[in-house]
Amino acid sequence: MSQQDTTEQLQAGRPTGPLVRGYEVIIGFETHAQLSTASKIFSRAPTAFGAEPNTQACAVDLALPGTLPVMNKGAVERAIKLGLALGSTIAPRSVFARKNYFYPDLPKGYQISQFEIPVVQGGSVSFFLGEEPKTVRLVRAHLEEDAGKSLHENFIGQSGIDLNRAGTPLLEIVTEPDMRSTAEAVAYARELHKIVTWIGICDGNMQEGSFRCDANVSVRKPGDRLGTRREIKNLNSFKFMQQAIDYEIRWQIEEIEDGRKIQQATVLFDPDTGETRAMRTKEDAADYRYFPDPDLPPLAIAADWIERVRGEMPELPRAMAERYVTTHGLSAYDAAQLTQSLALAHYFDSAVAAGAAPKLASNWITGEIARRLNAQDISIAEAPVNAAQLATLVARIGDETISNNAARQVFDALWTGDGSDVDAVIAAKGLKQMSDTGALEAIIDGVLATNEKNIAEYRAGKDKAFNALVGQVMKASQGKANPAQVNALLKAKLG
Ligand code: ADP
Ligand code: MG
Repeated sequence: MSQQDTTEQLQAGRPTGPLVRGYEVIIGFETHAQLSTASKIFSRAPTAFGAEPNTQACAVDLALPGTLPVMNKGAVERAIKLGLALGSTIAPRSVFARKNYFYPDLPKGYQISQFEIPVVQGGSVSFFLGEEPKTVRLVRAHLEEDAGKSLHENFIGQSGIDLNRAGTPLLEIVTEPDMRSTAEAVAYARELHKIVTWIGICDGNMQEGSFRCDANVSVRKPGDRLGTRREIKNLNSFKFMQQAIDYEIRWQIEEIEDGRKIQQATVLFDPDTGETRAMRTKEDAADYRYFPDPDLPPLAIAADWIERVRGEMPELPRAMAERYVTTHGLSAYDAAQLTQSLALAHYFDSAVAAGAAPKLASNWITGEIARRLNAQDISIAEAPVNAAQLATLVARIGDETISNNAARQVFDALWTGDGSDVDAVIAAKGLKQMSDTGALEAIIDGVLATNEKNIAEYRAGKDKAFNALVGQVMKASQGKANPAQVNALLKAKLG
């Protein structure tokens, strides 16, 4: 390692994250996003998931002699979209390379990838970790083909190769080692997952392997140069991701504390034991004998192609969040919450379009609704209360028909299916707030007539006594009195 590298790595120091037993944690991600094209990256075979083995592999995917790869424009377009979404440079000219290795699921003996000149360069992913804004820098994103799959479940103890997945288009998205905790790494992965699904380049189905992350993890004493990393392969759920990285951090610290050195390695996470296990010592780039693929011309992307793709891009979560801040006066944090998914943002938009006060609608969505969605582990699309119902509910709070307390009861009724019309539920449950001054005054007079002690204490300067009186009035009205009005009327009467 050169002196310059060392200095640069020392300075890689963005503010340090939480220390674990005195060690700083360093994490960088390599994510494979399967691109949502109908056909493969270099052939016309379909990419649909779950077909019978080897029914979706054509001569190109089987690497039959004489076949040639032809670039799928749809895959390039999706790479351009990601670059535009993340503020990256789209290379006007990028190069496909052969990554040579032997494995039964790779009939060509090499994988077509990009090496020295990738299609997407730089850029960043920004997100909130709790309420703290974070930015992770990207190194690159490159196009490549997936390999086939070895199947070891044959009933006579044989293995088979399924080449349906061979040639499936992937975008490998590589970050700088910018993350400083497991929580930050998972938040990054969630944000990236949100973006690729939002812009429609990947279906994001993690169980099916459409979005898989490799986490590179190392630890160091603060101020030391970067430690040796181990790469946890193919994390295909956020839960496993968190367990695997947490385990790996503890394991590495244990090794170092016991006086051993970390060996650079590729490891697998075993969800059954919750442990990571070394698979192989890590190859260097040199082991792959990369060289430009003579079968494919360099990928040229003209400016007008980029502009055409830009024109097809949906409004991005960050732009949408900024719009919520400037036009609806929401906090940056609330706006980020509402743009967690396109569906959630549309729900908020619909509620506002149906007349809901944005701030109130936002509070309900990021509060009560988010809590219930979480608790039931369902998405906003499955929420039993729709945006129009929320808008009516919010309007009834706004026009003081019901108190916040009553609104929660109405909401619960709607959510649990005990009614679907907001006004009908308010009527049925008798939750209408009492704002009629005459009726309120009658109740207040009654309370004052029987609470001489509180009145005297209030007059002697005890605020508590006043609150007690308010409480009595609320109780006497069965919780229906408008609290602000009760306050004002009481104050007036007590002089
Ligand atoms: P390679 O070319 O061997 O795959 P890279 O330099 O491309 O290595 O890095 C691969 C990934 O590992 C990147 O996401 C990078 O941020 C991350 N990484 C590099 N060094 C470290 C380290 N010391 N600790 C944690 N992650 C690292
Ligand atoms: Mg790499």
